[in-house]
Amino acid sequence: MSSISILKGREQQIYQKGSQDFDMSCEKKSLAGSISQRACVFCGSRVVLYPIADALHLIHGPIGCASYTWDIRGALSSGPQLHRMSFSTDLQEKDIIFGGEKKLASALDTLIDTYKPKAAFVYATCIVGLIGDDIDAICKKASQEKGIPVLPVHSEGFKGTKKDGYKAACDAMANLVGTGSVKDVGPLSINIMGEFNIAGEAWIIRDYYERMGIEVVSVFTGDGRVENIKRSHGAALNVVQCSGSVIHLAQHMLERYGTPFIRVSYFGIEDMSKALYDVAEHFKDTCPEIMQRTQALVREEVKKVYPILKQYKQKLKGKKAAIYVGGAFKAFSMIKQLRTLGMDVVLAGSQTGTKEDYQVLRDMCDDGTVIVDDANPVELSKYSIEKGVSLFVGGVKERPMAFKLGIGFCDHNHERKLSLAGYGGMINFAREVYASVTSPVWQFAPRKTIEN
Ligand code: SF4
Repeated sequence: MSSISILKGREQQIYQKGSQDFDMSCEKKSLAGSISQRACVFCGSRVVLYPIADALHLIHGPIGCASYTWDIRGALSSGPQLHRMSFSTDLQEKDIIFGGEKKLASALDTLIDTYKPKAAFVYATCIVGLIGDDIDAICKKASQEKGIPVLPVHSEGFKGTKKDGYKAACDAMANLVGTGSVKDVGPLSINIMGEFNIAGEAWIIRDYYERMGIEVVSVFTGDGRVENIKRSHGAALNVVQCSGSVIHLAQHMLERYGTPFIRVSYFGIEDMSKALYDVAEHFKDTCPEIMQRTQALVREEVKKVYPILKQYKQKLKGKKAAIYVGGAFKAFSMIKQLRTLGMDVVLAGSQTGTKEDYQVLRDMCDDGTVIVDDANPVELSKYSIEKGVSLFVGGVKERPMAFKLGIGFCDHNHERKLSLAGYGGMINFAREVYASVTSPVWQFAPRKTIEN
């Protein structure tokens, strides 16, 4: 395994702390032939928008694109379940030759009449970009006829990276923001941004804020509702997690409505507590008691989880871990989480990190840690083996790789069914890591080493 070489064109995106000058080359298209773990532009926009549960999500393209459904990323809804349906115009060869506009108009007509959504999102896929269907015009006409917002999402898969899809989703949502009444929105109010309610995480976070006395106007986009998005410009603060996915919308709201934003993470005790304190700090002049309330909340929650984490730490101490995630901001939290469990992170990377993100990652990591941008499975396998990791934390695409290498795995992406955010989420994380790393199954599938 260690004899596996790295593609020449990838060398500037791999860095070993302490052994070379750091100048990560990132934020660029994947190298051809490298089999990037990244998804396409359409996938990026779908990740951000599909948890809006009372909207219609119509994929204009071949049926294959529509395989990306709720089943793959299970954002929960407390009410409508329309987001779980994956509608597609199912473009065929004839449509590619003669155009798919009629098919799209007809699909919108039928679906809006049948499901009565509060809004509709129409996603452009690769082929639509190639044949040039005018989805803006079709959406505009449908919106006028049906009396609901029908929003084109320019997410043609080939036109960039998953990150461009995030921007396409933010551009679509920006058309909704500012169109609702804000007369009922109070001064102590926030929008939770970049939280997708995987396994009910948005509900956990919302509960913390409400205990602090804060009104949550809208969640972007977990358990999302069109009406709340429309009035979200009335909130006093945008609290942005997973900032890569929604930062464009936060920036738009800052420029257009003057809504300030802060970046947070809800993973791990340290970052979860910091998020609550940062929000309390923002509102302390408006509400002098908020800091006290927040301290009481944090104290109560930490008291519950700390003794349990201590037990796991004794069992996991000194074991090595690898992290590969979508956004680098999440990697920062995970390094802290794994350190809380006594583990050493020896490989860390992301699909979409920026130069600044990698600088922070470098500062956080120990000497010898391998840091990668837009890695491929061969690189992840090579360094996992060379570094002797016992645990890989990643998403669905890394799971089979880890298991084939005889390495414990924790799913920290949107496919999981376990809440990992908040204080309770930290316990779930510790439990999952412990169960996977110490599973008796590894005696039958031993870890690959440099020798074998
Ligand atoms: S939009 Fe293009 S790259 Fe994305 S799933 Fe569809 S065909 Fe594939």
